[in-house]
Amino acid sequence: MKEFEYNGLPGRVIFGSGSVEKLPAEMERLGVSRPLVLSTPGRSPFANQLSHMIQDASITVAGTFTHAEPHTPTSVTDKAAVVLESVAADCVVSIGGGSVVGLGKAVSIRTGVPHISIPTTYSGSEVTPILGETHDGVKSTRSDPKALPAVVIYDADFTMTLPPSFCSTSGINAIAHAIEALYAANGNPMISLLALEGIKALAEALPRIIQDPGSRAPRDDALYGAWLCGTVLGSSSMGLHHKLCHVLGGSLALPHAETHAVVLPHALSYNAPAITDQMAKLAAVLPGSDGDALHGLELLLDKLQVPRALRDLGMKEGDVVKATEMATGSQYPNPRALEPEWIGELIRRAWAGETAK
Ligand code: NAD
Repeated sequence: MKEFEYNGLPGRVIFGSGSVEKLPAEMERLGVSRPLVLSTPGRSPFANQLSHMIQDASITVAGTFTHAEPHTPTSVTDKAAVVLESVAADCVVSIGGGSVVGLGKAVSIRTGVPHISIPTTYSGSEVTPILGETHDGVKSTRSDPKALPAVVIYDADFTMTLPPSFCSTSGINAIAHAIEALYAANGNPMISLLALEGIKALAEALPRIIQDPGSRAPRDDALYGAWLCGTVLGSSSMGLHHKLCHVLGGSLALPHAETHAVVLPHALSYNAPAITDQMAKLAAVLPGSDGDALHGLELLLDKLQVPRALRDLGMKEGDVVKATEMATGSQYPNPRALEPEWIGELIRRAWAGETAK
């Protein structure tokens, strides 16, 4: 076995349908009693539902702040921090997707109050120490253990309203974390186990969500997979795939989860010659792959009917060159050396919706 280092991240996870009911007990455990409930505008009904539930447990909700935005603009964090202080809240409870998790992390780091996260998508951000923030339109990312929520409550009941199409793209976003963890420069056997289990859970659950959107069991399984995939994201360096998505999402404003779904087969195909062992392990957890991980991934993407072309997400052809320069302008760990000519071709194919090769 190769040498490796393993660093486990601290975290407390409560999993299960109906587990949001345990929120008051978790607050008591943390010694807090005046939550500021956070959401995006779209998820404000969840924030209200949660507030009622907290009040029913005889806890005063200090306030709600329902203005979270994608990519955690610091201007929004500023406003939330002012509200937190004005209502004398002693913790934040975020409910929603990666956008509000980001706000919860940012407010928690800024003010020092604990953050309880109730994620309702598969982004995985809630179990990573990574915080991506936007200031004056420029996105920067940092890793700080203080960004980790004190508690994460995974309750699939709050994912039942997630449209199957978004379950699919968000689920592929999660699978992408785990695929890159398999070949991360700082990977290790523990992370690989979690990554493969996470991919398997999602690859099996997502098509079942499409077939039967009202069924709870596949939503539970997908959330379990998302937790594992997020966990490995938090402990591994990410390579070409995440760099490309960071550039496309952060600088060209393409939608986060959909961009991951389009780019993943292309990035995997680019790296495949350098990761033959990992490709074999990946094939083993992708249904129908017949020993070929790329084929297995293509089958899954077809079943899920996710977007397959960046141009359909609003990217202009002229931005292919800009994206190539940004994705290859600095060095970062990736199993195959960054070859601008081939990465340019990869982005062009992803833009046009051609098959990965
Ligand atoms: P999101 O939070 O913006 O949510 C996407 C959409 O889904 C929103 O319109 C939201 O209202 C809706 N939604 C969320 N939950 C729903 C539900 N249960 N039912 C119906 N609709 C629901 O998007 P996301 O993909 O979850 O997260 C993307 C953001 O997270 C990006 O800013 C990305 O950079 C960040 N992210 C960060 C990390 C990290 O480790 N820091 C990891 C992954 C993603």
